[in-house]
Amino acid sequence: MIPQDTVNRILDTAQIVDVVGDFVTLKKRGANYTACCPFHNEKTPSFSVSPSKGIYKCFGCGKSGTAVGFVMEHESLSYVEALKYLAKKYHIEVVEKEESAEEIAKRQKNESLLLVSEFAGRFFQESLKTPEGQTIAYQYFRSRGLEDSTIEKYGLGWAPLNRKALTEAAREAGYKEEFLTETGLAIKYDDGRIGGRFYDRVMFPIHSVSGRVIAFGGRTLRTDKSVAKYVNSPETEIYVKSRSLYGIYFAKSEISKKDKCILVEGYLDVLSMHQLGITNVVASSGTSLTVEQIRLIHKFTDNVTIIYDGDGAGIHAALRGIDLVLKEGMNVKIVLLPDGQDPDDFARRHTLEEVEDYIARNERDFIGFKSDLLLDQAGNDPLKKAQLINDVADSVALMPDPVKRAVYVRSCAEKFGIDEQILTERISSRRTDMILAEQKQEERKKAALGRQTPSPVQNAGDYGPEDVPAPMPDDYVDYGDPVPELVPVPESETVVITDRFLAPCEKELLGFILEDGCSPLKFDRDSKFYDENEQVNVAEFIDGALAGDPFANPSYRKVYDEYFVMYDEGLDQRQIQTRLLNSQDPEIVEVAKELLIEKYQLTVKAFEDSLTTNDTRLVIYVPKCLMTYQCRKLEVMVKELSAELMATEDSEKQIEILSRIEDCNRARTRLNNELGRV
Ligand SMILES: [Zn+2]
Repeated sequence: MIPQDTVNRILDTAQIVDVVGDFVTLKKRGANYTACCPFHNEKTPSFSVSPSKGIYKCFGCGKSGTAVGFVMEHESLSYVEALKYLAKKYHIEVVEKEESAEEIAKRQKNESLLLVSEFAGRFFQESLKTPEGQTIAYQYFRSRGLEDSTIEKYGLGWAPLNRKALTEAAREAGYKEEFLTETGLAIKYDDGRIGGRFYDRVMFPIHSVSGRVIAFGGRTLRTDKSVAKYVNSPETEIYVKSRSLYGIYFAKSEISKKDKCILVEGYLDVLSMHQLGITNVVASSGTSLTVEQIRLIHKFTDNVTIIYDGDGAGIHAALRGIDLVLKEGMNVKIVLLPDGQDPDDFARRHTLEEVEDYIARNERDFIGFKSDLLLDQAGNDPLKKAQLINDVADSVALMPDPVKRAVYVRSCAEKFGIDEQILTERISSRRTDMILAEQKQEERKKAALGRQTPSPVQNAGDYGPEDVPAPMPDDYVDYGDPVPELVPVPESETVVITDRFLAPCEKELLGFILEDGCSPLKFDRDSKFYDENEQVNVAEFIDGALAGDPFANPSYRKVYDEYFVMYDEGLDQRQIQTRLLNSQDPEIVEVAKELLIEKYQLTVKAFEDSLTTNDTRLVIYVPKCLMTYQCRKLEVMVKELSAELMATEDSEKQIEILSRIEDCNRARTRLNNELGRV
């Protein structure tokens, strides 16, 4: 653990231009720097670095972040590893915080398990060099076309015929028996004897993302049907099957460089492709593809190409994979190999150029793939055909991005010659089902936790233009829009509406604070906000106007509070921005990124196109946004009061509520008039 003040020192010291400049040639353009993006292939630069904000942003592929984020992305490092990298670069000493006894014990145990695994890996490699290993295993690897360099690089080995060979060697080398059994390398019998899990098998070590041996797959070379073809390590503290991908360590940098991951099925598929020179390949080996594996790939790219052999099981796996990938918001293509060959056969029979060419020319969109496949099965049966169209539409419904969905609806409608409207309806009803199902699941989870929350959780990105038809339409702040007619709303809905209605304004206000909180508001002398004794800055102006009333949206409230804690500590705007963007709390990072980086993209453009200065922009829009927000809060209050009014029978109370509603309406009219003037 790196102590927080060291983290802060690293964040304050790291200069984005310096850090990025170590990897990319930057050219100065105005206040910023540009370059060709290191994360995607391009000829004209769309990668921009802002030294004043300490961030980078690619307008081509959309990658963005701080200096730490850049190092993480570019070097495929974890957050802590990236911090250490920067500390080294800037000669900042990192004294790691003391761990609790429990943490130490856990870390030491994991380390012991890793060491035993690595010992076993070396043992299997050495065994490959014995006469037994040479005649059986090495011969086999050679017959599968694997070269010595590949065998060496991927640590392939041989588990000897003697079942006790590994356990005895480990004991001699001083490894404890308990770690052998806990890694699953050995099995303990009831009578206390132990024996190896792996014997008489060729061995494929499985590496973690950072390259350590965490498990093994062993394949028998016997044709005897009573012997299991594969034996794999069990799940352990260092090996979670559903989160591991075979080959990820050797493929990760190429995956992010090529911005594409190729997914195959088995160990040999990966090895043959790598050996041929196609190294952005991984396999889900041993399990069917899981969401966690997809997310692991998603760290490095948005694009997945599934290569499968044409047998029934392969098709089934490919179909399931497609839906999982789509649901994660990634793009998926499918390549079918000719004549039932698997990637291993195919790679061995062709040159690098041929394989690359074949993949490029045969990559198919999932709609084309799914429809051709299913159309074949459907023949002329109209019912089956309808089922197929629904099937494809259901896959489209999984995509989180509404723009992508719209594009696919069009191509689907064209392909099947049916009306777009029909598809759109099917898709939106599927999405509503999905969202309701998710909400139910969420509620059940909460109920299980024994916590009762009044509203569905609203995250920063939750009120986008997509998803369920929202009771309140606007996602954007339309300054000075006419006040909508007031309709009493049942109480249960008010919480949701409140957030949907107020959150866009809160987002805007928070944007001003994160972007320009410490900038002064230079009001004109004749402005009602002008004060000759004091020039107030954006953050204080907004905070003063809110008068201690917190934001309704929990994510924005959290970031707001976090900002002012640091502001009160006397940090400057740049420091606060950097810390928010590098917070340990992913919710804070998400909001900060959206407001500081995504919006920055728009602001930069807007500024290049206009003559307005930032001072003028702030002086006009900060008060406008505040008043709009206050107007909306009054509206929400009126809605709540109206609901209360409907609910009560007590006439005295009714009169009181009515008079409060009138107060609110008067205040609203006043604000609206002012908004009209500003
Ligand atoms: Zn890019």
